[in-house]
Amino acid sequence: MNRRQFLLGLSAIGASGLTIAGARYWPESGFTNPCFSHIPDELKQHPLMQKIWADIDAAQVWDTHAHIIGTGNSGSGVRYNPDMDSWSHPILKIQKDFYMNGGCITSDHEDETFIARMVDLSADMPAGYKTMLFAFDWTHNAQGEPEKAHSIFHIPNSYAASIAKQYPQYFEWVASIHPYRPNAIDTLESAKANGARAIKWLPSGMGIDPSSPKCDKFYQKLAELNLPIISHTGRESAVQGGDQSFGNPLHMRRALDAGVRVVLAHCASDGHDEDLDNHGKTIKSFELFTRIMDTTAYAKLAFGEISAITLINHAWVIKPLLQRPDWHARLLNGSDYPLPGIMPLISIKQLMRAGLLEESHLLFLQTLRDYNPLMFDFAVKRLIQFNGASFGRKVFETRAFFDNATTNT
Ligand SMILES: [Zn+2]
Repeated sequence: MNRRQFLLGLSAIGASGLTIAGARYWPESGFTNPCFSHIPDELKQHPLMQKIWADIDAAQVWDTHAHIIGTGNSGSGVRYNPDMDSWSHPILKIQKDFYMNGGCITSDHEDETFIARMVDLSADMPAGYKTMLFAFDWTHNAQGEPEKAHSIFHIPNSYAASIAKQYPQYFEWVASIHPYRPNAIDTLESAKANGARAIKWLPSGMGIDPSSPKCDKFYQKLAELNLPIISHTGRESAVQGGDQSFGNPLHMRRALDAGVRVVLAHCASDGHDEDLDNHGKTIKSFELFTRIMDTTAYAKLAFGEISAITLINHAWVIKPLLQRPDWHARLLNGSDYPLPGIMPLISIKQLMRAGLLEESHLLFLQTLRDYNPLMFDFAVKRLIQFNGASFGRKVFETRAFFDNATTNT
């Protein structure tokens, strides 16, 4: 059975236009997200769908990593770098177009259509499932001044908070605060008071050295508020520029030593970093992540986050993660939405060839992806298996980790 026949077999999809569109993306998923909506009943009742949700309490499932994108057309304060609209910066331009398509932004009302799509996707998830939406601070210089011209994009805290307030059944929000800002501590306190569940950093793109003493007061306040920090580790490809060495997992020790719970995003699954403990030898960033996770003193503070691990350039890490069941209680799932909606970034066939997915998963996953990248991302990670090991329900039931951040203070 090919994909077209599979779609034809789904009786709820009466419109032949959909099957033709579906066939167009065969064999893999092509370059363009078709942005279908509302998962058909036949897919919802598919045995694999039952399987992925079988032992899961959806009300405990919080997707710990999702981006808001937009243009600021709604007065949201969202800004993206104008270079992204210019063919004199072709990589940025192409990246922006992929992001827009991945998020199914289709009109002049970019902010609104992005959120409407997120709401649609969320309504299709089992009740209780929530997505944690990230704000994104400006790049700042060493003096703590914003450098707007060097920032690739900016999502204000107030905007992320307002979306979560508007749709409390679907979203939580994560603040982004540069620690060098003169008002960093006040901003942190008000974000917490306003319901932020965590703080998000992209050290390379934002110009944050997490090992700098300039972060100490911020760490102290985070520990006091029991707010975790979700910080990108390893190489960053989605947001270019900045000092990539700031993503070295070892830099997060300063936060851990201050008693802050640290979520190492993507488990540092891409790139290489300097081994600061061994004469600056360059090794895989993941090996440095491993060192942090295996440090006894950090057993209750260091966490790994598995968003983006299915991306083509990250997927090698899946087997090493499956082989460490002792870490699984400290792994948190995230989708890195809209990345799962950007078609060329994830290859089901690559995962099949690696022995992580079965052939019988292929059509289910590819079809699901056209309708709902959030469900697709969840399904892929739930179905992945190697030598009998898989990601158990606790990796997905992340709510207690972040709820705790609010209730313990
Ligand atoms: Zn991300």
